[in-house]
Amino acid sequence: AKEAGRNNVQFYTPEVNAQHIRRLFIADGLRRALEQNELQLHYQPKIRAGCGRIIGVEALLRWTLPDGVHIAPDEFIPVAEDTGLILPIGQWVLKQACTNIVKWRAHANPNMRVSVNLSARQFKNQDIVSQIKKTLEDAQCPADALELEITESVLMERPDQVTSTLRTLHDMGIRLSIDDFGTGYSSLSYLRNFPIHELKIDRSFIEDITQDESHAAIVKAIITLAHSMKLTVLAEGVETEAQLHYLRNERCDHLQGYFFSRPLPGQALEELLLAGAEI
Ligand code: C2E
Ligand code: CA
Ligand code: CA
Ligand code: CA
Repeated sequence: AKEAGRNNVQFYTPEVNAQHIRRLFIADGLRRALEQNELQLHYQPKIRAGCGRIIGVEALLRWTLPDGVHIAPDEFIPVAEDTGLILPIGQWVLKQACTNIVKWRAHANPNMRVSVNLSARQFKNQDIVSQIKKTLEDAQCPADALELEITESVLMERPDQVTSTLRTLHDMGIRLSIDDFGTGYSSLSYLRNFPIHELKIDRSFIEDITQDESHAAIVKAIITLAHSMKLTVLAEGVETEAQLHYLRNERCDHLQGYFFSRPLPGQALEELLLAGAEI
């Protein structure tokens, strides 16, 4: 009883209460953010390690309040998930991304792809396949211009159920990538059954790749694993030349990170593409 009492008291500590208020504030703001154009997509280039060409971009949400304050996706995406607002927001992201990639393919780079992050809630939604199909049609976007990034933890939560959704998306011609790979304890037997194209090594392993031997070993193992399964592999969060050299040497296919470019507003990304930038 004493323990329970203590826990009850803990609920009312100022810290917990402040967090609660912050979440209510975010949930309330998000409801209006979409309608009031407070949400924006930024695009971060993905680079082919061998030649330095831009092969695609990842669409990343940005939220700016009317007073200019930014709220980070790591803070508002979980709230959007809990409230279900991720469904209309995710639909908006898909539409924006598909519309823009069609434009950039026509003007700048005909083979480029856009990668869109799918949250757990979106992925489990029954209508996800038909929604994506319709969005592609409306934007006249070829399916192979779209890549979906789904985190390892979402896939491994219910690996049997997700396989059929993945297969449908794969058969439509959409590319599938496992995000945050290495953090979610994939079962290798499931991994073999998922119809995926790319493993995206989590930034936490790349961060200290040149100092921490165990992380370097994990990265090497993931690259070998991917290639043995005929998958491509991307390293995210590349910030230094030393990391670039290391990853290139280990035959990592694709790279992404501040060393090449931060996520950019659509207009700035378009200028980069038009400049024919080979970073
Ligand atoms: P993520 O999908 O793992 O995205 C990678 C994050 O790393 C992004 O943060 C990106 O800006 C950041 N990043 C890229 N290169 C570097 C680097 O070299 N160094 C460092 N330190 N960071 C780098 P961001 O944009 O804040 O997004 C955070 C997370 O929010 C994303 O993680 C993703 O899980 C989620 N998210 C963002 N946009 C969307 C969206 O449209 N839909 C969904 N469902 N989730 C999204
Ligand atoms: Ca991602
Ligand atoms: Ca990631
Ligand atoms: Ca992440």
